Amino acid sequence: MIQAELETLTLGDETMHQIKRSLLLIGLTAVLAAPFVSTPTNPTSAVTVAAKTTKSVNRQTLAKAIKQTPDLNPTSSVRHFSFRTYYSYFTLFNKNYNVQRMSKPTVFKHHQATVYVPSAELRETGYVTAAIKNWNVALGTKVFRIGTATNHTITVNMKDGPTSADGSWDGYYQTNKVYVNANFYNNANYLPAVYTDLTGDKMAGASSPNSAAYQHQYKRYWTAVITHELGHSLGLDHTPYSNDIMASEFESAGSDFKYTWNDYKIVDNSFAILTGKLSTRDINRAKLTKSIGYW
Ligand SMILES: [Zn+2]
Repeated sequence: MIQAELETLTLGDETMHQIKRSLLLIGLTAVLAAPFVSTPTNPTSAVTVAAKTTKSVNRQTLAKAIKQTPDLNPTSSVRHFSFRTYYSYFTLFNKNYNVQRMSKPTVFKHHQATVYVPSAELRETGYVTAAIKNWNVALGTKVFRIGTATNHTITVNMKDGPTSADGSWDGYYQTNKVYVNANFYNNANYLPAVYTDLTGDKMAGASSPNSAAYQHQYKRYWTAVITHELGHSLGLDHTPYSNDIMASEFESAGSDFKYTWNDYKIVDNSFAILTGKLSTRDINRAKLTKSIGYW
Protein backbone atom coordinates (compact mmCIF):
# COMPACT_ATOMS: atom_id res chain seq x y z
CA MET A 1 0.00 0.00 0.00
CA ILE A 2 2.66 2.44 1.05
CA GLN A 3 4.89 1.34 -1.79
CA ALA A 4 2.11 2.05 -4.26
CA GLU A 5 1.65 5.48 -2.75
CA LEU A 6 5.32 6.21 -2.94
CA GLU A 7 5.44 5.33 -6.60
CA THR A 8 2.80 7.90 -7.36
CA LEU A 9 5.11 10.49 -5.91
CA THR A 10 8.46 9.55 -7.29
CA LEU A 11 10.22 8.13 -10.29
CA GLY A 12 9.75 4.40 -10.57
CA ASP A 13 13.42 3.63 -10.85
CA GLU A 14 14.55 5.49 -7.77
CA THR A 15 15.98 3.56 -4.88
CA MET A 16 14.14 3.58 -1.59
CA HIS A 17 16.87 5.73 -0.17
CA GLN A 18 16.33 8.36 -2.79
CA ILE A 19 12.60 8.10 -2.39
CA LYS A 20 12.97 8.79 1.31
CA ARG A 21 15.04 11.83 0.60
CA SER A 22 12.58 13.19 -1.90
CA LEU A 23 9.77 12.89 0.57
CA LEU A 24 11.75 14.58 3.24
CA LEU A 25 12.68 17.61 1.22
CA ILE A 26 10.44 19.64 3.39
CA GLY A 27 10.15 23.30 2.74
CA LEU A 28 12.90 23.65 0.21
CA THR A 29 15.82 25.71 1.26
CA ALA A 30 15.88 29.25 0.05
CA VAL A 31 19.43 28.56 -1.00
CA LEU A 32 18.26 26.14 -3.67
CA ALA A 33 15.59 28.60 -4.63
CA ALA A 34 18.10 31.39 -5.14
CA PRO A 35 17.93 33.68 -2.15
CA PHE A 36 17.79 37.40 -2.56
CA VAL A 37 21.52 37.61 -2.05
CA SER A 38 24.13 34.96 -2.71
CA THR A 39 26.90 36.85 -1.00
CA PRO A 40 26.72 38.62 2.33
CA THR A 41 25.59 42.20 2.19
CA ASN A 42 25.32 44.73 4.90
CA PRO A 43 22.23 43.81 6.85
CA THR A 44 20.47 47.11 6.99
CA SER A 45 20.75 50.79 6.35
CA ALA A 46 21.91 53.38 8.81
CA VAL A 47 18.37 54.70 8.91
CA THR A 48 17.24 51.77 11.03
CA VAL A 49 20.05 52.02 13.54
CA ALA A 50 18.56 51.21 16.88
CA ALA A 51 19.22 53.55 19.72
CA LYS A 52 21.08 50.94 21.68
CA THR A 53 23.82 52.18 23.88
CA THR A 54 25.48 48.90 24.75
CA LYS A 55 29.13 48.94 23.89
CA SER A 56 30.70 47.28 20.89
CA VAL A 57 32.82 44.19 21.33
CA ASN A 58 35.77 42.94 19.37
CA ARG A 59 35.70 39.88 17.17
CA GLN A 60 37.46 37.62 19.63
CA THR A 61 35.11 38.45 22.49
CA LEU A 62 32.15 37.98 20.20
CA ALA A 63 33.39 34.62 18.91
CA LYS A 64 33.83 33.44 22.47
CA ALA A 65 30.31 34.51 23.43
CA ILE A 66 28.87 32.74 20.39
CA LYS A 67 30.77 29.59 21.21
CA GLN A 68 29.18 29.49 24.66
CA THR A 69 25.65 29.35 23.27
CA PRO A 70 23.93 26.04 22.46
CA ASP A 71 24.32 24.78 18.90
CA LEU A 72 22.57 27.12 16.42
CA ASN A 73 20.70 28.69 19.31
CA PRO A 74 21.41 32.39 19.92
CA THR A 75 20.30 32.63 23.50
CA SER A 76 19.93 36.03 25.15
CA SER A 77 23.65 36.38 25.88
CA VAL A 78 24.33 37.09 22.20
CA ARG A 79 21.22 39.10 21.45
CA HIS A 80 22.02 42.32 23.28
CA PHE A 81 25.01 43.71 21.51
CA SER A 82 25.08 47.15 19.94
CA PHE A 83 23.81 47.73 16.44
CA ARG A 84 27.39 48.38 15.43
CA THR A 85 28.41 44.91 16.59
CA TYR A 86 25.73 43.20 14.49
CA TYR A 87 26.52 45.47 11.58
CA SER A 88 30.26 44.81 11.75
CA TYR A 89 30.14 41.07 12.35
CA PHE A 90 26.95 39.91 10.66
CA THR A 91 28.88 37.26 8.73
CA LEU A 92 29.94 35.72 12.03
CA PHE A 93 26.30 35.54 13.16
CA ASN A 94 25.20 34.25 9.76
CA LYS A 95 27.67 31.42 9.82
CA ASN A 96 27.13 30.36 13.42
CA TYR A 97 23.35 30.45 13.46
CA ASN A 98 22.53 29.62 9.82
CA VAL A 99 20.91 32.96 9.13
CA GLN A 100 21.18 35.44 6.28
CA ARG A 101 19.11 38.10 4.61
CA MET A 102 16.58 36.38 2.36
CA SER A 103 14.02 39.12 1.83
CA LYS A 104 14.16 42.19 -0.33
CA PRO A 105 14.89 45.20 1.87
CA THR A 106 11.41 46.56 1.14
CA VAL A 107 9.58 43.52 2.54
CA PHE A 108 9.78 44.65 6.17
CA LYS A 109 8.80 48.17 7.13
CA HIS A 110 9.09 49.01 10.81
CA HIS A 111 9.75 45.29 11.46
CA GLN A 112 6.50 44.27 9.81
CA ALA A 113 5.57 42.52 6.55
CA THR A 114 2.15 42.45 4.92
CA VAL A 115 1.04 39.14 3.45
CA TYR A 116 -1.42 38.65 0.61
CA VAL A 117 -2.89 35.37 -0.62
CA PRO A 118 -4.15 35.80 -4.20
CA SER A 119 -5.86 32.39 -4.29
CA ALA A 120 -9.31 32.60 -2.68
CA GLU A 121 -9.20 28.83 -2.21
CA LEU A 122 -5.97 28.97 -0.22
CA ARG A 123 -7.07 32.10 1.61
CA GLU A 124 -10.25 30.38 2.82
CA THR A 125 -8.33 27.47 4.32
CA GLY A 126 -6.95 29.84 6.95
CA TYR A 127 -3.52 28.19 6.76
CA VAL A 128 -1.71 31.42 6.02
CA THR A 129 -3.51 33.22 8.83
CA ALA A 130 -2.56 30.39 11.19
CA ALA A 131 1.08 30.54 10.07
CA ILE A 132 1.13 34.29 10.63
CA LYS A 133 -0.31 33.81 14.09
CA ASN A 134 2.39 31.26 14.89
CA TRP A 135 5.12 33.83 14.40
CA ASN A 136 3.26 36.80 15.87
CA VAL A 137 2.45 34.95 19.08
CA ALA A 138 5.93 33.43 19.39
CA LEU A 139 7.70 36.75 18.86
CA GLY A 140 5.22 38.81 20.83
CA THR A 141 4.93 41.32 18.02
CA LYS A 142 2.86 41.69 14.89
CA VAL A 143 5.67 40.82 12.49
CA PHE A 144 3.20 39.62 9.83
CA ARG A 145 -0.24 40.91 9.05
CA ILE A 146 -2.74 40.17 6.29
CA GLY A 147 -2.68 42.64 3.42
CA THR A 148 -4.66 43.23 0.26
CA ALA A 149 -4.09 42.91 -3.48
CA THR A 150 -2.91 46.51 -3.61
CA ASN A 151 -1.18 46.68 -0.24
CA HIS A 152 1.23 43.86 0.55
CA THR A 153 4.92 43.04 0.64
CA ILE A 154 4.77 39.21 0.55
CA THR A 155 2.54 36.90 -1.48
CA VAL A 156 1.69 33.25 -0.82
CA ASN A 157 0.80 31.28 -3.93
CA MET A 158 0.23 27.74 -5.10
CA LYS A 159 2.54 26.51 -7.85
CA ASP A 160 2.88 23.23 -9.73
CA GLY A 161 6.26 22.05 -8.50
CA PRO A 162 8.28 18.94 -9.23
CA THR A 163 7.42 15.69 -7.46
CA SER A 164 10.33 13.54 -8.58
CA ALA A 165 13.27 12.68 -6.36
CA ASP A 166 15.48 15.47 -7.63
CA GLY A 167 14.49 18.95 -6.66
CA SER A 168 11.04 18.33 -5.25
CA TRP A 169 9.79 20.80 -2.67
CA ASP A 170 6.79 21.42 -0.44
CA GLY A 171 7.29 25.14 -0.42
CA TYR A 172 9.94 27.74 -0.95
CA TYR A 173 10.59 31.40 -0.35
CA GLN A 174 12.19 33.77 -2.81
CA THR A 175 12.78 37.45 -2.06
CA ASN A 176 9.13 38.26 -1.30
CA LYS A 177 7.14 35.25 -2.48
CA VAL A 178 6.11 32.04 -0.76
CA TYR A 179 5.16 29.13 -3.01
CA VAL A 180 3.37 25.95 -1.97
CA ASN A 181 3.69 22.91 -4.23
CA ALA A 182 0.18 22.29 -5.56
CA ASN A 183 1.13 18.83 -6.80
CA PHE A 184 1.84 17.67 -3.24
CA TYR A 185 -0.88 19.80 -1.65
CA ASN A 186 -3.48 18.17 -3.90
CA ASN A 187 -2.14 14.62 -3.62
CA ALA A 188 -4.00 12.85 -0.81
CA ASN A 189 -1.31 10.15 -0.67
CA TYR A 190 1.53 12.56 -0.06
CA LEU A 191 1.01 13.54 3.58
CA PRO A 192 0.47 9.97 4.86
CA ALA A 193 3.69 8.96 3.11
CA VAL A 194 5.64 11.83 4.65
CA TYR A 195 4.17 11.10 8.05
CA THR A 196 5.18 7.46 7.92
CA ASP A 197 8.62 8.28 6.63
CA LEU A 198 9.27 10.69 9.48
CA THR A 199 7.70 8.80 12.36
CA GLY A 200 7.60 5.17 11.26
CA ASP A 201 3.92 5.14 12.18
CA LYS A 202 0.82 5.16 10.10
CA MET A 203 -0.95 8.51 10.07
CA ALA A 204 -4.38 8.58 11.68
CA GLY A 205 -7.01 8.55 8.95
CA ALA A 206 -4.32 7.92 6.33
CA SER A 207 -6.64 6.19 3.89
CA SER A 208 -9.61 8.48 4.53
CA PRO A 209 -8.79 12.01 3.36
CA ASN A 210 -12.22 13.24 4.38
CA SER A 211 -11.92 12.03 7.96
CA ALA A 212 -11.48 14.48 10.79
CA ALA A 213 -8.15 12.89 11.77
CA TYR A 214 -6.73 13.28 8.27
CA GLN A 215 -8.00 16.83 7.93
CA HIS A 216 -6.54 17.77 11.30
CA GLN A 217 -3.06 16.57 10.32
CA TYR A 218 -3.39 18.05 6.85
CA LYS A 219 -4.10 21.50 8.26
CA ARG A 220 -1.22 21.25 10.71
CA TYR A 221 1.20 20.11 8.02
CA TRP A 222 0.49 22.77 5.41
CA THR A 223 0.28 25.47 8.07
CA ALA A 224 3.70 24.30 9.23
CA VAL A 225 5.08 24.46 5.68
CA ILE A 226 3.89 28.06 5.33
CA THR A 227 5.23 28.89 8.80
CA HIS A 228 8.59 27.46 7.69
CA GLU A 229 8.62 29.58 4.53
CA LEU A 230 7.74 32.73 6.46
CA GLY A 231 10.68 31.82 8.71
CA HIS A 232 12.89 32.10 5.64
CA SER A 233 11.53 35.60 5.04
CA LEU A 234 12.83 36.49 8.51
CA GLY A 235 16.30 35.39 7.47
CA LEU A 236 16.27 31.94 9.05
CA ASP A 237 17.87 29.12 7.11
CA HIS A 238 17.73 25.45 8.04
CA THR A 239 18.80 23.52 11.12
CA PRO A 240 19.01 19.74 11.61
CA TYR A 241 16.84 19.70 14.76
CA SER A 242 13.56 17.88 14.17
CA ASN A 243 11.57 20.00 16.60
CA ASP A 244 12.54 23.21 14.80
CA ILE A 245 10.08 24.58 12.28
CA MET A 246 13.18 25.41 10.20
CA ALA A 247 14.43 21.81 10.23
CA SER A 248 15.69 20.12 7.09
CA GLU A 249 16.83 16.52 6.76
CA PHE A 250 20.12 17.43 5.13
CA GLU A 251 22.08 20.47 4.12
CA SER A 252 25.22 20.62 2.09
CA ALA A 253 25.23 24.22 1.04
CA GLY A 254 28.79 24.60 2.26
CA SER A 255 30.06 27.93 3.38
CA ASP A 256 26.65 29.42 4.17
CA PHE A 257 26.09 26.97 6.98
CA LYS A 258 27.80 26.26 10.28
CA TYR A 259 28.20 22.62 9.23
CA THR A 260 26.68 20.11 6.86
CA TRP A 261 24.38 17.28 7.96
CA ASN A 262 22.79 14.24 6.40
CA ASP A 263 20.02 13.37 8.81
CA TYR A 264 17.75 14.97 11.36
CA LYS A 265 18.85 15.34 14.94
CA ILE A 266 15.73 14.00 16.59
CA VAL A 267 14.63 16.08 19.58
CA ASP A 268 11.76 15.02 21.86
CA ASN A 269 10.80 12.49 19.20
CA SER A 270 8.86 15.27 17.49
CA PHE A 271 8.84 16.93 14.10
CA ALA A 272 7.76 20.55 14.03
CA ILE A 273 6.65 20.11 10.45
CA LEU A 274 3.95 17.74 11.75
CA THR A 275 2.93 19.84 14.75
CA GLY A 276 3.44 23.38 13.49
CA LYS A 277 5.04 24.35 16.79
CA LEU A 278 7.99 26.74 16.93
CA SER A 279 10.91 25.75 19.12
CA THR A 280 12.86 28.00 21.46
CA ARG A 281 15.66 27.82 18.90
CA ASP A 282 13.35 29.04 16.11
CA ILE A 283 12.25 31.95 18.27
CA ASN A 284 15.75 32.88 19.45
CA ARG A 285 17.03 32.81 15.88
CA ALA A 286 14.19 35.07 14.73
CA LYS A 287 14.94 37.51 17.55
CA LEU A 288 18.57 37.50 16.46
CA THR A 289 17.76 38.24 12.82
CA LYS A 290 15.70 41.19 13.97
CA SER A 291 18.71 42.53 15.86
CA ILE A 292 20.91 42.06 12.79
CA GLY A 293 18.37 43.92 10.69
CA TYR A 294 16.98 41.22 8.41
CA TRP A 295 13.43 42.11 9.32
ZN1 LIG B 1 13.28 25.72 3.89
